[in-house]
Amino acid sequence: MTTAADRSPDTAAGLDTEYSEADVHQEFGENPNEVRDTDHYQDEYIKGFVDKWDDYIGWEGRAASEGSFFIDQLRSRGVEKVLDVATGTGYNSVQLLKAGFETVSADGSAEMLARAFSNGREHGHVLRVVQADWRWLNRDVHGEYDAIICLGNSFTHLFAERDRRKALAEFYAMLSHDGVLILDQRNYDQILDGGFQSKHKYNYAGDTVTAEPEYVDDGLARFRYTFHDDGSVYHLNMFPLRKDYVRRLMREVGFQKIDTYGDFQETNAGDVPDYWTHVAEKT
Ligand code: SAM
Repeated sequence: MTTAADRSPDTAAGLDTEYSEADVHQEFGENPNEVRDTDHYQDEYIKGFVDKWDDYIGWEGRAASEGSFFIDQLRSRGVEKVLDVATGTGYNSVQLLKAGFETVSADGSAEMLARAFSNGREHGHVLRVVQADWRWLNRDVHGEYDAIICLGNSFTHLFAERDRRKALAEFYAMLSHDGVLILDQRNYDQILDGGFQSKHKYNYAGDTVTAEPEYVDDGLARFRYTFHDDGSVYHLNMFPLRKDYVRRLMREVGFQKIDTYGDFQETNAGDVPDYWTHVAEKT
């Protein structure tokens, strides 16, 4: 058994969670930059990383930056039923439940869903969780939804174009005739076009976590997440989605109107956004 303290004796005092090696060691093989596989997200969201995920996204900081953007988008369309397809640890699902939306919380990772469920309980809600991969969403999730959300830069985990088309088609099929898909992504255009020097560090939750690109090319953005409290380090291998490419795919799958917002703003305030949010309508 490995504890967080074993891994970083100087800084992990106070953490006594017992981890097996598999809980804290992500398997990327000999050449991590060659790992460009849609299925690999399952091996990346291991227990140790999932336990740290809320330190990274920081629920309070996230609430401050997102504000009521998503709730406003949904309410203005008269949405009642929402499917969160990238539940993760449950942040957005819990916000939706708090706001009174009928919400189903799906994710392909059982580890993530278990954490989402316990986070929901802590906030006084019982999440309706379903383990489902986007590529086979209609097989595993039933019903029709007024809105689907896919947030927190999740779509980036799909490495093949056919997987992206399949996932978007599955989302489209689960929406009511006038339904809306809200999907966000990191601003990879800036990272790809800006050269390595421009890749600034993205700090969340104050100085406690650093997320930074370790390797980037047209087919891979490999990010390193360093948690300063115990020195633990995890990685995600992601596909660097260009904004206009995602908009084109959405149109080609059948979405009629796509609005893209920078950093949750109606109009771009001047700074280059770190994130884009696409709001795609069926009619
Ligand atoms: N939305 C959450 C947030 O903002 O914190 C989680 C974001 S996390 C970056 C990405 C999530 O997408 C993970 O929980 C992962 O398991 C899920 N995911 C990635 N690829 C998936 C797929 N093909 N099908 C279903 N879920 C997937």
